[in-house]
Amino acid sequence: MELQVTNSPFTQEQVELLNRLLPTLNEGQRIWLSGYLTASFGSAAASVPAAPQQLAASGSAAAAPESVPAVPKEVTVLYGSQTGNSSSLAKKLAKRLEGQNLQVTLSSMGDFKPNGLKKINNLLIVVSTHGEGEPPDNAIAFHEFLFSKRAPKLDGLQYSVLALGDTSYEFFCQTGKDFDQRLQELGGTVLVPRADCDVDFDEPAAAWIEEVAASLGNASAGAVSSANAAANPLASNVESEYSRTNPFKAEVLENLNLNGRGSDRETRHIELSLEGSNLQYEPGDSLGVFPENHPRLVDELIAAMDWNGGELVQVNKNGDQASVREALLRVFEITAVTKPVVEQLAKLKPESGLSGLLADESEFRKVMHSCDLLDLVQDYQLAGIPAASFLAVLRKIPARLYSIASSLKSSPDEVHLTVRTVRYESRGRERYGVCSVHLAERIEAGDSLPIFVQHNPNFKLPANPDAPVIMIGPGTGVAPFRAFLGEREETGAEGKTWLFYGDQHFATDFLYQTEWQRWLKDGVLSRMDVAFSRDTEQKVYVQHRMLEHSKELYQWLLEGAHVYVCGDEKRMAHDVHHALATIIQQEGGLTEEEASEYLTRLQQEKRYQRDVY
Ligand code: NAP
Repeated sequence: MELQVTNSPFTQEQVELLNRLLPTLNEGQRIWLSGYLTASFGSAAASVPAAPQQLAASGSAAAAPESVPAVPKEVTVLYGSQTGNSSSLAKKLAKRLEGQNLQVTLSSMGDFKPNGLKKINNLLIVVSTHGEGEPPDNAIAFHEFLFSKRAPKLDGLQYSVLALGDTSYEFFCQTGKDFDQRLQELGGTVLVPRADCDVDFDEPAAAWIEEVAASLGNASAGAVSSANAAANPLASNVESEYSRTNPFKAEVLENLNLNGRGSDRETRHIELSLEGSNLQYEPGDSLGVFPENHPRLVDELIAAMDWNGGELVQVNKNGDQASVREALLRVFEITAVTKPVVEQLAKLKPESGLSGLLADESEFRKVMHSCDLLDLVQDYQLAGIPAASFLAVLRKIPARLYSIASSLKSSPDEVHLTVRTVRYESRGRERYGVCSVHLAERIEAGDSLPIFVQHNPNFKLPANPDAPVIMIGPGTGVAPFRAFLGEREETGAEGKTWLFYGDQHFATDFLYQTEWQRWLKDGVLSRMDVAFSRDTEQKVYVQHRMLEHSKELYQWLLEGAHVYVCGDEKRMAHDVHHALATIIQQEGGLTEEEASEYLTRLQQEKRYQRDVY
């Protein structure tokens, strides 16, 4: 578009000069000029932040001379996130690219209209893998679209994928791999190779972000970053200094067993102080806790390997040292058997037979699902590998995420957790859930725990306080609903609420019973249906209660209810999903396919949210 006095703030003389100059500039010169103007007239640029970007964007329409590398201006960043890691990395990436004067569109895959894909030239995907190699909830529809016949040809697309996963799962980073493979099949070109990250993703993710940033071209990065920072709402978030990489040592205020005497189960209610941390959270967010390994398992491993527990070993790249015992207690993971670790151990002891195990996929899968490192050491006679070499190949103990069970509004400066203790026996040895048993057996009031807040934008109360809320949370899955109701009590939200809860026995396993009763009495909770599975001959689960009240539940949906499911992913969440589909089909007089589309729509409208694993 030619500049004129009528479409710009310039005088006739300036317009003529600019119209003579601008068309002669090549791509690189335009970018340099926009950066120069921003840097030279910083504050003025900040007040009209879009100007340099618009100038640069209009340049992309003109063909750049061959000798100047084409610098893409528009980049779309899509994330698929279950627990919030992918979304926070995607935000970091967007901020980084905006600092390079690129026009970044950041969106959850759930909010992205796939029809727009064809218009995109640069696509960056940050996605985690959920369950058994499945996409996270807000990536399901986009994933399905890409693998459907409706997926367009993407010949003009440059893309890259950052995949998050966990090597202790068989289908490591599967969703990221799916996207990568499919985008390539559709004609896309790889901008930088996919990065597959394990639970300790900070370093590889940061390296991928840098690589992507470098290959998209640095358009006067330093010069424009301040203008962008002013325009960028992400940059204005006040953040606590504490995070996953710099956890806060929270004091334990309370540690109680919620189950009554005679129960088969043990559930700890833990209260932690956030005082002095400036950490903030909302109902639906999770808390990361860094646990320690069980001393008994550590000592058995040291004995089986015939190590000296007092020997000093290196525990990180900075060269920090700790004794073997300390390192195994607090730094390294010893309960999960992952492929990268076994591959390294096989190299350290080639005669052990581990290479044969790696070659046998189904045997390896069995070992991965049922063994810890002590089993591996015993079964493959790994004694003889020096402690320093062995520990050097281990992963760091990953944090465990728990759905927060409190509301900051009702418990200021505190965070509460509901944690089921995991203990079971296998191969004649007692096994312990690393974090839950640490909390149950070795943590008491006055101790401290390294924690961080993991925001979860995919599990949030409706913005409209009058919208009805249906909550389905058997077992410890009820935790976030204690947070929801605590929050609604404080904010005086008026919409009706319905809780489906279940556990094994009414008498011993009714978690937070008196709190639900009080909320029922006060009207904060409008309705509660419970399913105690082992009090009757025939098992009853939450989904049976839902089906019993299908008419009313469907009516709530018609009134705009938001549905939340939290708890076990493998069975419960699937069964509850199926029950919802049945209710919608039956009460709405729909076909199976229509009911499934209805649920997908609810998901897209964020009226059906799940926090399950
Ligand atoms: P749980 O084992 O899920 O048991 C709670 C109740 O659910 C019991 O009465 C159980 O009955 C019943 N149940 C079993 N199978 C079911 C099914 N297919 N459908 C509906 N109900 C079923 O309780 P938990 O020990 O507290 O475990 C909760 C699970 O949720 C764990 O896997 C935990 O990791 C997960 N969790 C996830 C989140 C999250 O994603 N944010 C938060 C909290 C908990 P029976 O035992 O009699 O069969």
